[in-house]
Amino acid sequence: MIVVMNADSGDKEIARVISRLEEKGLQGHLSRGMERTVIGVVGQTFPELRDMLELMPGVEEVIPISKPYKLSGREFQPQDSRIKVGEVTIGGGDLVVIAGPCAVETERQVVDTAQAVKAAGASIFRGGAFKPSTSPYHFRGLGEEGLKILAQAREETGLPIITEVLTPQDVELVARYTDMLQVGARNMQNFVLLDEVGKTRKPVLLKRGMSATIQEWLLSAEYILSQGNRQVVLCERGIRTFETYTRNTMDISAIPIIEKLSHLPVIADPSHGTGKWYLVTPLALAAVAAGADGLMIEVHPTPDFALKDGVQSLTFENFEQLMSQVSALASSVGRRIATGAAKM
Ligand code: PEP
Ligand code: MN
Repeated sequence: MIVVMNADSGDKEIARVISRLEEKGLQGHLSRGMERTVIGVVGQTFPELRDMLELMPGVEEVIPISKPYKLSGREFQPQDSRIKVGEVTIGGGDLVVIAGPCAVETERQVVDTAQAVKAAGASIFRGGAFKPSTSPYHFRGLGEEGLKILAQAREETGLPIITEVLTPQDVELVARYTDMLQVGARNMQNFVLLDEVGKTRKPVLLKRGMSATIQEWLLSAEYILSQGNRQVVLCERGIRTFETYTRNTMDISAIPIIEKLSHLPVIADPSHGTGKWYLVTPLALAAVAAGADGLMIEVHPTPDFALKDGVQSLTFENFEQLMSQVSALASSVGRRIATGAAKM
C-alpha cells in the first residue's frame, strides 16, 4: 500500500508515519513528487493497518497497491526516475549510449575502444572483468586486473564505467572500481546478489533474464529498491524463443511496457538481443523509436580476434555509423544523444 500525505503535511508527520511503520516491522519508502508526497509501505501488511495510518496527522489517504511489485511501479511513483552515473543522467530525456567490449582483454584494447566510443558520442564505457560463461572452457574474464584496466580507461577518457558483478562476495570489490554495477541476465534472479547490490548506493543496471517475464524482472528490481538503493536502470537484452537465427529475440515491446508500468528508466542492448553485428543498428533504431532511455552496444577494435562476443561486436567504424543513424532518428522524435559525459 501507499500512504499519500496531504499538501500541508511536513517532515514531522512524514517521520511519524515512517516510525509507526517501523514499529510494526514494516519499512516506509519516501517519494517526494511535484504534486504529492507518498510513502510506500513494504513488508507484510495486516488488515487494521490501513485505518491506523489513515487516522494519523498529515495523511490524506491510504491506497492499496494492486501490483506485486511496489517501489518499482508507477502507483508508488508516477514521475520518471532519473539515475545519475557520474555526470550522465539516464532517464532525463536524452539518450544515453553505453559502449565498449564484451570483455576486458588488454589495456590497449580497452583504452583504444574507450577513446573511439567517446569520440563517436558514447557517454558511459562498458567492459566485463568478471564474465558469466555458458561453458567453463571459455574466457571468464581478467577479474580484478580487468577492473584496474577499466579504471585506467576512465582516467584517460573521463567516461564513467559500468561492469558486471557476478557474485555477492564481489560486490564490495567491483563497487570500489566502477561507477555503475551490472547484474547480468543469468543473475537476474540471484536474489542474494540483488540484496547485496541493493545495499550499495551505486547505480545498478539490471538486465532482463533470458526467460523472465516482465513481472519477474520488475520483482527483481524490487529486491534492489527495497534494500534502499533507488538507482536502478532496466535493460532489455533479448529473450529465448524458438527462433534460432538470432541468439535471442529482442523484445522491443518490453520498452513501452516498462515505460507504462514503471518509473525506472529502460535501455536496450541489441548486441545480446540479436547476437549478430549487422542486426545491432536496425534493432538499436527500433529501440529508440520505441522510447528507450538509452542503448548498450558492444564494440571491439578487431571483432574477429575478440575473446568474447566478437560476432555481435561493432568495429569502431560501424559504431560511428550506428551513432549517426541513432542521432538522426533521435532528432526526428525530438530527442538527442546525451553529451554530459566526459568533461576532460
Ligand atoms: C554482457 O553484457 O556482456 C552480458 C554477459 O550480458 P547478458 O547478461 O545480457 O548476457
Ligand atoms: Mn557480451
